Amino acid sequence: MTTLCGVLGYPVAHSRSPAMMNAAFAELGMDWRYVHLPISPQRFVETARALPGSGYRGANVTIPHKLAARELVDELTSAAEAIGAVNTLSFEAGRILGDNTDAGGLIDSLGTEPAGKRALVLGAGGAGRAVVWALREAGADVAVWNRTPRRAEELADDLGVRAVADGEPSDILVNATSVGLRGEDPTEELPLAPADVVVDLVYGAEPTAVCRWAEARGARVVDGLEILVRQGARSLALWTSRPAPLAAMRAAALNV
Ligand code: NAP
Repeated sequence: MTTLCGVLGYPVAHSRSPAMMNAAFAELGMDWRYVHLPISPQRFVETARALPGSGYRGANVTIPHKLAARELVDELTSAAEAIGAVNTLSFEAGRILGDNTDAGGLIDSLGTEPAGKRALVLGAGGAGRAVVWALREAGADVAVWNRTPRRAEELADDLGVRAVADGEPSDILVNATSVGLRGEDPTEELPLAPADVVVDLVYGAEPTAVCRWAEARGARVVDGLEILVRQGARSLALWTSRPAPLAAMRAAALNV
């Protein structure tokens, strides 16, 4: 019988994860299938609990369910617990395990060891929290900026990093805000400052404005698709115990 996986979200039709994960299963020669699971918040818990009985090995969780998923699981990894959000459910022997692969995926994408490096994270929403935690755990000196300063201060207090009121030069700059999705000028909305590596979590059909800004300044750029691929690769490895075929996943995510 085909083993199933999916992405729980609402709405979720735009998600590139099914194309990316099905390309991975095909590359690995596995009889697995990954599907969109558009589930409303009202139906989330009962649907997620029913998945293992319907042949599901695991599921990714996206907006708006990442916090609700934390309450649903029997066991949390330390990453999911500290970040307070779950993006990966694994169904194992009658138990539901919750993980957050956004954090590890970010570190995998950097191509540089964060320990001892200065990192500036823009954004203190859900993604910002995962990024700040991941970089701090990896040994970086992390500063966080947010448009609404109170949220940056709360996050900084909670995770033991610095909140900053303005941008500052760094080794690693991460845009974890949603700026760039709607064609905004990031130099007006964000305190962009020089960095060796610039990561933009936002992705779309074209290179984002933050990626273009970084490229023009000679930084090494990690785009949001690479972050998507890397978090998906970690989820896939959890479910299948096989190394993820990154090139096939990248090509599929790009061509949706
Ligand atoms: P969220 O919790 O809603 O947070 C949104 C963040 O963006 C907040 O920090 C908000 O600041 C900031 N923001 C919004 N508009 C702004 C503006 N005009 N100027 C400055 N800051 C602004 O969202 P999230 O879940 O953290 O996600 C953030 C982004 O990351 C989204 O675009 C999401 O698609 C992307 N993401 C990508 C991946 C991936 O795999 N590539 C994974 C996760 C997230 P305030 O607090 O002041 O409102």
